[in-house]
Order: sequence, then structure tokens, then C-alpha cells
Amino acid sequence: MSESDRLHVRSITLSSNRLGLIAKVDLIEGKDGEVVPVDYKRGKRPHVQAGAYEPERVQVCAQGLVLEEHGYTCPHGVLYFAGSKERVTVSFDEDLRRLTRNAIDGVRLIAAGGQIPQPLADSPKCPRCSLVGICLPDEVNFLKRQETPPRTLAIARDEAMPIYVQARGAKVAKKGEVLEVSIDDAKTATARLDEVSQLVLMGNVYVTTPCLHELMQREIPVTWHSFGGWFMGHTIGTGHKNVEVRTAQYKASFDSATCMRIARGLVVAKIQNCRTLLRRNWKVGDAPEVLLDEFKRDIDQARRVGTLSELLGVEGNSAARYFRSFSNMISRTDGGEELPFDFDKRYRRPPADPVNALLSFSYSLLVRSWTVTLSSVGFDPYRGFYHQPRYGRPALALDLMEPFRPLIADSSVIQAINNGELKPTDFISSAGSVALDADGRKRFIATFERRLSHEVTHPLFGYKVSYRRLLELQARLLTRYLLGELQEYPNFVTR
Ligand code: SF4
Repeated sequence: MSESDRLHVRSITLSSNRLGLIAKVDLIEGKDGEVVPVDYKRGKRPHVQAGAYEPERVQVCAQGLVLEEHGYTCPHGVLYFAGSKERVTVSFDEDLRRLTRNAIDGVRLIAAGGQIPQPLADSPKCPRCSLVGICLPDEVNFLKRQETPPRTLAIARDEAMPIYVQARGAKVAKKGEVLEVSIDDAKTATARLDEVSQLVLMGNVYVTTPCLHELMQREIPVTWHSFGGWFMGHTIGTGHKNVEVRTAQYKASFDSATCMRIARGLVVAKIQNCRTLLRRNWKVGDAPEVLLDEFKRDIDQARRVGTLSELLGVEGNSAARYFRSFSNMISRTDGGEELPFDFDKRYRRPPADPVNALLSFSYSLLVRSWTVTLSSVGFDPYRGFYHQPRYGRPALALDLMEPFRPLIADSSVIQAINNGELKPTDFISSAGSVALDADGRKRFIATFERRLSHEVTHPLFGYKVSYRRLLELQARLLTRYLLGELQEYPNFVTR
């Protein structure tokens, strides 16, 4: 930050070793060495004598103390309430400074204990708390005691969306607060940075260094795919700071009983969801009872087996059964015209027909979604419980996506074909391998993202949640299970 007559700097992270604090300041305004931290609040200004509640005043005061550590004069701060568009000035008097120092000492003591404090129970504070989507107080309390059903807390609107860039030779750059995509120096698309949740690049796309720096600073992940859609990796900033989650993850991943317990739950949930998808989408008449019963037997078997390799066997048999019936969910005609979307078997590498090509592409998009989600909540996506570690394999993402393969990936494929969003002419075939062409891929990505935005009623919590949010909710619940707060990891099973 440079000294100048007037300062106006947004989104700054500062730290102080002496205070043991890292402050994220929304805005710093200043003049002649005197600065004012401005903290944005979503709600309306409360009508209380002090102008704002104590925790909010303490928070902005802590930002002021960190700024003073960096040599600035900081006599007051500002709380900006977006709901009522009002600024409240908070004077950093001696009382507030003392209160803030005590709060810092208390928080450091809790952090040193290594135990996350229990969330509040049914507190009126939670719905307004900015941490509610991370803390999940009602969900955790409900899973522990099955008492009061959760309020709709964790599902704030999906304000930011992923941006996909797939044009060969496209360039992504930052222009002020905007991401700009250009081809041969001609601007083709723009998106406001605060509306971008991740940048997804397909094939030979170039990102400028300043743009990459900005994305890392804002913790917006960049994910890289081959031109054919194969997920190659992602770029994030310095990574998630909550090392406790990763420690718990690694510990659990070396404990065979815990691995078996988590893996069994995932496989059972996957088979249940496959069975439901078939039951709901069977095209001609009803899905045969005998087939549905076979899946029930698979589920019973998965619950009984004692080793991961046995579980793998049960899952493999059940998946083969599922894919043998998969074509019964696909429309064969469009307005009386025969559609050649035949499917008899799952071929992975290379996909030998359009349906297999779509399934492979859809799974790679789902792995990417899970990898990014898991990283963003503090996991190492490469260490799993069911899928074994292998170089470059996002084992935890592959684990957690199991129950969601039918619900998100397969369902997107069925929708894209049955709604006529893709035609046989959208595929190209070369050396026995079939893939989507660029236009077809664009349309399928839109179908997939639409599926992620689709809202479902959560079977345990009773509120509606988009699949995109649900992935994050599940990942956070896994952290609570691994940290010992929950007895079981609650898998998502649709009815
Ligand atoms: S959401 Fe969590 S952090 Fe926020 S007030 Fe409730 S219990 Fe506390």
C-alpha cells in the first residue's frame, strides 16, 4: 500500500505477530498517514445506543489495532451496513481497546486448545452471523440430538458462478474489477470478479500473471482441463489455513476401521441413488421390481462386507447392473425421429460412443467441482478413504462424488439427451474414441451447471438447497465428523 494524500484500498489482509491476529479489511480509507478501516455488514444498522453491537465494534477495532501495528494512526473505524446503506463511526476509545485486547486473548486461548467450541443452540444470533454457512450450528445440533429441525441457514444464494473459457488461444486478463476474455485482442466476454466463483479453463487458454495473482488473492480457484475435458488440476492461493481439518483427515485415512465405515456409507448411498434414478426415469412403463430388488440386495451386501476389496466387488457388480439398465432412461426418439444414442456398456478410456463420451465428460466436471469444494473447506483432495492414493488422483473427491454420480453427472447426461440439447452431430469420432465438439461441450456445460443450480429438499434438514451448495454442506459435515463432533458422516440420499 503506498503512502499518498488519499488512500482508498479494498480487500486487504494484514497481520500482526504481536497481537497474533490476521485482519481482512474490506476497505481502508485514509489521508496523511491517518487511516480508517471500513467493515461491510450485510444487514441494517441496529438501533442501539453505541451505534452497533459490541462484537461488530470489537471486530473493526481489532482491524484498527493491526493497522496501528503497521505504523498508521487509527483513531476510529467505520461499519457500513449495506441493508440500510448507513455508515456508523466507531471510536477506538480506551474501553473498546481493552475489550478488544481481552477478546483477542480469549480467542487465542481457545485456538491453543485445539478444540472447536460447540456451536450455539437455537440462538437468534446465528441467522445473522456471517459464519453460519461454515459453522452450521443448527445442522450439527440436529445431527447430534435430532431435536429442533434446522432453520434455513446454510443456503445463502449462490451469488458467484463459475466462468468457463474454452476457445483455443483465448486470453483471460483483469481489467479493474472485471475479468476480460479476448481472442486475438478482440474482447469476447467479461464478468465482474465478485460474481466469479471459479475460472474453468479448457485446453489452450492463457491467463495473465496479474489476473492469476488477483484470483489467488481473492481465493477464486482456477481449474485446468485438457481440451477434451480431462481435469488436470487447479491453482489456488496459499491454500486453506485450517490445518486441523487436514490433520484429522490424514489420521482417519490411516485408520482402516474409519476408512471402511466412511467407504461403506458412500457406496450404500451411491447404490441407493442409482436405484432411485432408475426408478424415477424409466422411460417405458415402470422399472421392473425384480431389478429394484437386486439393488436392495446390493445395498444389504455392501452393509455386511468387512473389507474394502469386498466392498469394491459389490460396488462393481452393482455399477455393471446399473449401466446395463441405463439405456432405459434415454429417449430413443425425438419428434418421431430415431435417435442413435445407443448404450450397452460403460467404456471409460476411450469412450466408444456418444453416451459414454458424455458420461466421461460429466464425471470429469463433477470431480472438478468436488476437488475445488474440498480444497475450499480445508481438505487435501488427494487423500481419501475409499479410493486409494495414487499420484495425481484426487481420491477424496472421487470418494465423495460417489453418491452424486447418478444425481448430478448421470442426470445431466440424461437431461441433455432427452431434452434434445445435444444431437448426434455434436460429437466427433477419431481412432475409436468419441468426444463432444466445442459447441456441444459448451451446451453440455450449461446443462451440468443448471443441474448444479437445481434445488432439492434436503432429506434430513427439510430445507431446499441447490446441488452446488449441497456439495459444500456435505464437505463441511465431513469436517465435523472427522473432528469428532458427529458420530457418523451423514450421506445424501434422495428419496
Ligand atoms: S453461527 Fe456459529 S459462530 Fe455464528 S453465532 Fe452461531 S454458533 Fe456462533
